[in-house]
Amino acid sequence: MPASSPTHSSTKSAPTTSQSDTAPASRWLVIGGGVMGLQVATDLRDRGQNVTIAEAAPTMGGLTSAWNLGDVIWDRFYHVTLMSDTKIRDVLKRLGLESQMKWVETKTGFYAGGRLLSMSNTSEFLKFPPLTLIEKLRLGGTIFYASKIRNWRRLEKLTVEKWLRRWSGRGVFEKIWQPLLQAKLGEAYKQTSAAFIWAHTARMYKARRSGMKTERFGYVPGGYAQILESWVGWLTGRDVTMKTGSPVKNVAPLNSGELLVEFADGHSEVYDNVVSTIASPFIAQSCDALTQTEKDQHSNIRYLGVVCASMLMDKPISQYYVTNITDTWVPLTAVIEMSTIVDPESELDGKHLVYLPKYLPDDHEGLNESDDDYREKCLSTLEKMYDHFSRDQVIEFKIARAKYVAALSTVDYSTRLPPIVTSVPGFYALNSAHIVKGNLNVNETITLGEEKLADEVWPDYQKRVARGQVATNATSRDEELVSSS
Ligand SMILES: Cc1cc2nc3c(=O)[nH]c(=O)nc-3n(C[C@H](O)[C@H](O)[C@H](O)COP(=O)(O)OP(=O)(O)OC[C@H]3O[C@@H](n4cnc5c(N)ncnc54)[C@H](O)[C@@H]3O)c2cc1C
Repeated sequence: MPASSPTHSSTKSAPTTSQSDTAPASRWLVIGGGVMGLQVATDLRDRGQNVTIAEAAPTMGGLTSAWNLGDVIWDRFYHVTLMSDTKIRDVLKRLGLESQMKWVETKTGFYAGGRLLSMSNTSEFLKFPPLTLIEKLRLGGTIFYASKIRNWRRLEKLTVEKWLRRWSGRGVFEKIWQPLLQAKLGEAYKQTSAAFIWAHTARMYKARRSGMKTERFGYVPGGYAQILESWVGWLTGRDVTMKTGSPVKNVAPLNSGELLVEFADGHSEVYDNVVSTIASPFIAQSCDALTQTEKDQHSNIRYLGVVCASMLMDKPISQYYVTNITDTWVPLTAVIEMSTIVDPESELDGKHLVYLPKYLPDDHEGLNESDDDYREKCLSTLEKMYDHFSRDQVIEFKIARAKYVAALSTVDYSTRLPPIVTSVPGFYALNSAHIVKGNLNVNETITLGEEKLADEVWPDYQKRVARGQVATNATSRDEELVSSS
């Protein structure tokens, strides 16, 4: 395995280790072992720092982590990589996994007016029954126009509804956009800015461009379980300490300039720097010393959560990777048939894997719906949607939930973001809520982690070192972590 960071080779803002990247080593704790935490740890280690990751869950990976569905091990939440996801592909290259990736052309379906319709190419789009020809042209024009917009900040000032009504017209908005927005965001779509749809469109448009006009999605054999195993192994091999099952409770500054980190089991450790990658409401609760304004900025960020069933079947349910749903009686955001991409024979024990997600705002009671109720809702809905579906075909059914998945891109969102370099020296708050130019995905998350570490965290660290505020290896101090339990 090469010694450099998995992603440094291709970044604009974080060039391969140069003079500006160097500084004496000190002790860093990265809170959160999702892909953001792994990326930050990778970059810090590449800069010669002593790095520990503290993850609350029993395994690393956060939203990308895998679980067992009977004998099948696959991601708890569905994940695909786009051809245009260059940053994650760089990570995979360095881990020796990119060459193993499988790329598959996908089809998209729509469930509209009680019918399942294909919408995978231009000719199908032109035949799409719910829209008149003029409406189709307006829809196509809106998507094309959105893909050309560079000044996303302008879009952040408008609600998505206002912008889509203006460009697509009332018919397209009410028949297509509104049901899709409601399925994805619930009533929160009313506060969501036009930047949300711009980011989504830009990603899909870019994917088609780099995928030769067809939609091709990729995965690594073994799924994210394989990626995480390799990445964690890569870091461990470079002396990064991994602490799983270690929720951090509080971070407090000491008079020495160090940070005292208290863990949920009562023991404490001392670090020189902490980068917290966890969701903003948790950051607000985990550092008392932040100013009230900083705490409010974090706790005022609204998130989308998700309830997502994984269903293993002995037969496929459709030919579509994603079936978008515009019929408002359906209580699901979409039907995602993973086994249209992932090979059932080699990866899924010959079975077919379908995800049934429902995204909901973080305060929505639906996130706490019982497993039995959500299961019944899913199965009875599928029985109505697909004539050939019967619950007897279901071999495994398991439900995953996450309350804080993606920060909601509300009007003027980027102007209200909390700072990454906080008022507490050495405490950095760098999480996916800082994604302002895209929607949440692994590529965007690790790109942000790498860029913000290089542009904000590292320069601040270098300043603190230059002012003598950090006791580094170069200034010699007891390296032992203390325990006050
Ligand atoms: C349903 C769904 C589908 C998706 N599909 C795709 C896709 O197709 N392609 C794609 O690229 N991306 C996809 N994503 C997005 C992708 O999963 C995220 O972009 C990425 O996982 C975010 O990583 P993160 O590290 O920012 O956050 P997380 O994964 O949430 O990591 C944060 C970590 O912090 C830990 N933590 C929280 N509190 C503490 C504490 N006090 N102490 C220690 N640790 C703590 C958590 O346990 C967690 O592991 C999808 C996500 C979901 C939910």
